[in-house]
Amino acid sequence: MPTIGVLALQGDVREHARMLGEAGATAVAVRRPAELDAVDGLVIPGGESTTMWKLAETFDMLQPLRMRIKEGMPAYGSCAGMIMLADRIEDGMTGQQTIGGIDMVVRRNAFGRQVDSFESYLDFAGERVRAIFIRAPWVESVGADVEVLGRCEPGDRIVAVRQGPLLATSFHPELTGDVRVHRYFVDMVREL
Ligand code: GLN
Repeated sequence: MPTIGVLALQGDVREHARMLGEAGATAVAVRRPAELDAVDGLVIPGGESTTMWKLAETFDMLQPLRMRIKEGMPAYGSCAGMIMLADRIEDGMTGQQTIGGIDMVVRRNAFGRQVDSFESYLDFAGERVRAIFIRAPWVESVGADVEVLGRCEPGDRIVAVRQGPLLATSFHPELTGDVRVHRYFVDMVREL
């Protein structure tokens, strides 16, 4: 069984841990570099990316996270976690940094300017899923190596992507009780 960490600086850590357990992984909380070293993959939860970024700096986690991603560790970011995995962001706080890894531009709070939160059905990697969006980002543009796994109205926006071992969704599958997105990620970790 793969051991998958949930970055536990801020955000809905417990919900992700529960879903990972249901998807066939052993879930552990990751707050320190030594804990990061011990996992096969990492989930970066939803929450608030500006807070997560500041705490990652405070806990000296930003460089270790960047290093492990560069080395090929599988990671899945939902919502704020998607922002953290983006190489470039729009509408970030001044100076806001990310871990990066996915060659994409992500716009923070993009749907939120129209409506703070909403639910929708969409195709994720060919399967119909219920998606919950909360002050969600969307993907403004992607590089050639990024696979688009899901889009959503309004605007047919990109809301799920994969680049090699990295997965990101604008929405929160950890809040629906539908374990398929987490199972997709656990399978990615198993394959590597
Ligand atoms: N708007 C938040 C951010 O910028 C993300 C919201 C979420 O994770 N639900 O981080």
